[in-house]
Amino acid sequence: MRTSQYHLVTRKETPQDAEIISHQLMIRAGMVRKIGAGLYTWSPLGFRVLRKVEAIIREEMNASGALEMLMPAVQPKELWEETGRIEDFGGQLLAMTDRAERDYFFGPTHEEVMTEFVRDEVTSYKQLPINFYQIQTKFRDEIRPRFGVMRSREFIMKDAYSFHLTAESLEETYRLMEQTYTKILSRMGLKFRCVLADSGAIGGSGSQEFHVIADSGEDAIMYSDDGDYAANIEKCEAVSLLSARAEPENELTEVATPDQKTIEQVTEFLGVNADQMVKTLLVEGVEGPVALVVRGDHHLSEVKAAHLSEVATPLRFLDDKEVQELAGCDVGSIGVKDLNCPIIVDLTVANMSDFICGANKEGYHLTGVNWQRDAEFQQQADIREAQAGDPSPDGQGILKQARGIEVGHIFQLGDKYSKAMNAVVLDENGRSQALQMGCYGMGVSRLVAAAIEQSHDDNGIIWPSALAPFQVALLPMNYQKSVQVKRTADELYEKLTKAGYEVILDDRKVRPGFMLSDFELLGIPHQVIIGDRSLDEGFVEYRHRQKMEKQKIEHAKIFDFLTQHTNL
Ligand code: ATP
Ligand code: MG
Repeated sequence: MRTSQYHLVTRKETPQDAEIISHQLMIRAGMVRKIGAGLYTWSPLGFRVLRKVEAIIREEMNASGALEMLMPAVQPKELWEETGRIEDFGGQLLAMTDRAERDYFFGPTHEEVMTEFVRDEVTSYKQLPINFYQIQTKFRDEIRPRFGVMRSREFIMKDAYSFHLTAESLEETYRLMEQTYTKILSRMGLKFRCVLADSGAIGGSGSQEFHVIADSGEDAIMYSDDGDYAANIEKCEAVSLLSARAEPENELTEVATPDQKTIEQVTEFLGVNADQMVKTLLVEGVEGPVALVVRGDHHLSEVKAAHLSEVATPLRFLDDKEVQELAGCDVGSIGVKDLNCPIIVDLTVANMSDFICGANKEGYHLTGVNWQRDAEFQQQADIREAQAGDPSPDGQGILKQARGIEVGHIFQLGDKYSKAMNAVVLDENGRSQALQMGCYGMGVSRLVAAAIEQSHDDNGIIWPSALAPFQVALLPMNYQKSVQVKRTADELYEKLTKAGYEVILDDRKVRPGFMLSDFELLGIPHQVIIGDRSLDEGFVEYRHRQKMEKQKIEHAKIFDFLTQHTNL
């Protein structure tokens, strides 16, 4: 490709709404252009990378035996009524109506459409197991679309759905998908981690997420420093930090804590540590309010709390007025003694003694509080977020925390959808059985951003070789005027292109400094700088985008050098 015949539009300015580096660099490199909230046009340059991501995914999915197909993006509402998932997806669903007043959604995911296909087309166990996939545009009306294509509203996903007669067969394909995702992300040159995950609105039993490790990642992932355990913080088991409850030593005492509302204020005022206190949070329950109690230095896990059968979903904290009505005080003074609602405590809290909590009286706290003697709880459960330094739940090592970008999510759905939609097959004995189902998503467009997030410097993108839009950039200085520069560049271009390399030759009439910084920004791995001065001495210059120092290579040897140093 010659830049004169290509579309390269780079920018110096960083757009104001671009908070993270991948978004900034994708806009500056002219890979994408925003046309509305969470809506992006992919330029030819950006599209090349998107296609690379797709191609690797497609190759590995095909190699695993999965079958590519295509479902419609627009889905009849009735299908969603069959599974009752309209509520679960809520505002994320983009609804539309046709001229005959029929209702549709733009698909945020395809479990319903897929199950509809299978319930008609797969009728015998002999057709199983089978794994279908597509690479397609999805729409989710995200509350906060941000970070460019990382969390957009329209995006491209690879979604696969497998069907089985037995749970064992599902497990087998699930493991195969885990291996396939590992291959895909390894081929892309990414640093990633597979972690246990919460199943969210998709449902089902087991699920794992694949995270690209990056400081800007929206998810916190916890992993053992000395074992295999790794989980999204939403899912990570938080063990009790106290093995048994000690006997009470202190008297129950009411202390004045005027204007001290937060844990930090109260601990400083009383001269105690946060791990001697408990936090009492009031949420809406299925039948009236429920109190959730975690230790002062711990955080409530909203995901775990929402899973409790006593707690209403979506999770909602009582507002100030409701708190006053129930506890007779403001949020900062709620405590567990004489609280008129069921109390669910975290596992660590259940074993605390002589602790401090609010007195349910404005400006007062209680010290020396003890379970049984002073207050009762109805249930203990794991309701806090695990934190770095906790023992790993599998008993091996200590938990550490990292940030991750979720690029893939695999689920064992079981018969949730097949039962709801009556997708059955006849087994060997002619008996009708609900299909076992798995689903496996991967964020194609998000992966492009995630790769940049992991690999860049102050001057631009550093593409991993497998994702680079072009392998080699030929950067001739004074191409328009110097005959030998033009000839050298053109010849090398022909030779490399013929040999199957993806080459871009910059034949624009621009200043050398401009050209070099443009290609730093674009992140092309192998760059050959061709100028009169070095050609006179029989050399061209080579730089690799990662290292950037220039290397003199004999003109006659540059082709061989490139073929040896690029892994094409
Ligand atoms: P997230 O937690 O990031 O919102 P999700 O758990 O809702 O994602 P899944 O339903 O598991 O997403 O979808 C499969 C994959 O699709 C995700 O792992 C992610 O890579 C990608 N994806 C989901 N939402 C978006 C989005 N808004 N923009 C870009 N990619 C997305
Ligand atoms: Mg997910």
